[in-house]
Amino acid sequence: MSFPPLPEPLPAPVVDNHCHFDIVRGDDELSVSDGLAKAASVGVTRIVQIGCDLPSARFAEEASREWANVIGGAALHPNDAPLQPDLEAALAEIERLVTAHPKMRVVGETGLDFFRTGEEGRALQTESFRRHIDIAKRHAKTLQIHDRDAHEAVLAVVDEEGAPERWVMHCFSGDAAFARQCLDRGAYLSFSGTVTFKNAGYLREALAIAPRDRILVETDAPFLTPHPHRGATNAAYMVPTTMRVMAEVLDEDLEALCMTVDENTDRAYGGSW
Ligand SMILES: [Zn+2]
Repeated sequence: MSFPPLPEPLPAPVVDNHCHFDIVRGDDELSVSDGLAKAASVGVTRIVQIGCDLPSARFAEEASREWANVIGGAALHPNDAPLQPDLEAALAEIERLVTAHPKMRVVGETGLDFFRTGEEGRALQTESFRRHIDIAKRHAKTLQIHDRDAHEAVLAVVDEEGAPERWVMHCFSGDAAFARQCLDRGAYLSFSGTVTFKNAGYLREALAIAPRDRILVETDAPFLTPHPHRGATNAAYMVPTTMRVMAEVLDEDLEALCMTVDENTDRAYGGSW
């Protein structure tokens, strides 16, 4: 594994709204300062650092305090929630972290994952998802949802609990019909490198029907490296590769699309930072 080369810079800045600086794949290590500098050099000037368990939620809290252009999110990932020895204590710590300072703006990533978690973990996963929605609503944070092979079940929980004011379907993975269902409920759709994959025509169809003011972009780095570097280690500086494909799909000027996505991101996370 290795990192892909730097892509051509974007003509206007955008935010990587879902990134994991703390997850290292193999020997491919990039410090936060190098990662931010490389990202900024190609126009990815701000980052949303996402926590998935207690250590990474603490990392996000610290990184967002330390770096002006980083905001943070904290949650128990749907695959980690059923593994907690004490779910109540873990949720209390997530709530403490997500309210630790104003740059903790996100409850996420939470949601449902029926790919990696089997039947036996689903009750706890669903309970954890409900509780994260409640935390987001009580503290007016943006909710970031992880949905893997669980489209209908995710929407059922969102409908039962009621969506928070601002919520994002991270790494959107459905087709145009599912996109419509999410959009009708007020979601932002965040597109990752998967939208560039050859076999992902359904994602490009979903993007094509989304109103321009509801589209976000992310890397989910170090995962999901866009085509043609699929399999390499992803980094926030790869956003331009995905943005170029999105501009093609939407038949829109790249600079205009960057400006739109940047405005959307500020709105989705309760203002600029
Ligand atoms: Zn992620």
